[in-house]
Amino acid sequence: MIVVMAPHATQEQIRDVERRIQEWGYGAHPIYGAERTVIGAVGVPEADKARYMESLEALPYVERVIAILRPYKFASREFHPDGTVVDVRGVPVGGREVVLMAGPCTVETYEQTYASAKACRAAGASILRGGAYKPSTSPYSFQGLGVEGLRILRDIADCFQMRVITEVMDVRNVDLVAQYADILQIGTRNMQNYDLLREVGRSRTPVLIKRGMWARIEEWLQAAEYVLLGGNPNVILCERGIRTFETYTRNTLDLSAVPAVKELSHLPVIVDPSQGTGKRSLVTAMARAAVAAGADGLLVEVHPHPEEALKDGAQSLTCSQFEQLVAEIRPIVAAVGRTLHAPDAG
Ligand code: PEP
Ligand code: MN
Repeated sequence: MIVVMAPHATQEQIRDVERRIQEWGYGAHPIYGAERTVIGAVGVPEADKARYMESLEALPYVERVIAILRPYKFASREFHPDGTVVDVRGVPVGGREVVLMAGPCTVETYEQTYASAKACRAAGASILRGGAYKPSTSPYSFQGLGVEGLRILRDIADCFQMRVITEVMDVRNVDLVAQYADILQIGTRNMQNYDLLREVGRSRTPVLIKRGMWARIEEWLQAAEYVLLGGNPNVILCERGIRTFETYTRNTLDLSAVPAVKELSHLPVIVDPSQGTGKRSLVTAMARAAVAAGADGLLVEVHPHPEEALKDGAQSLTCSQFEQLVAEIRPIVAAVGRTLHAPDAG
């Protein structure tokens, strides 16, 4: 880390900062500039950095302290230069193949989920999505079917040789959801729920972390760091749009996050163009763009009758629209030198 001294700092004060750094057991290397002095502190372990930075920043003659290494280590690209492939019971996410995860926003009934899964599987999706526990801005709107929803998802996914991705919202439900799901989804609203991140870090079930709608890429990677540090190496990231001043779309889908995450991290990154736009008419174009930008997969909402959906009907594709989406991304998948993962035969 680098300590930038205030312009008015005296020789005595510069010495004081050097002495503190040395007393902690690290090297202090001052550089005397015309305007101000900076002191490089070397050898400070990552785990201690935040504490020391805070204590130095509290000194009136220190202007600021800058961390040099990134605030995440296990999530960084340097940690696994070749990239990570997360194995979702035989479906590889993060390799050469692009993986499709699709299904309803919410598990409403057996029949609705079955119809969506059947169409998604036929079009090429290997992973069935669907919410059994739904985060809702309003406490009056549908909260999901709970365990019954988990059973429906598992049962239908097994009929079609699909894997299941579903959201877990509560630390008390992690083990329960993991009994039914192949990927534990952490929703945008919970990206900074550190207890939940720690809890899924204890599991070995793959975890998909949605980007917080307010979160910087660095904060998102630090959320992943919680899970990795807990001992769960199976982390997938999902860009789902962030809040900006634009209101025409539900969120602003930040596709530059895809190559940015690839630069900074070894973790697979997928894109959710459904929450990302909030509008059915925009989903397919953004799915094409996501694949072109290097996404390792897509998470798409598909409903047999979107106009009857209990949640997110406006952004849900019909079954035939999803089939069309897959047809449209195929040439783009090939153009970026990849292949579409084919669902298990059966
Ligand atoms: C969802 O996938 O249906 C969902 C609620 O996602 P997000 O957490 O990104 O809003
Ligand atoms: Mn949704």
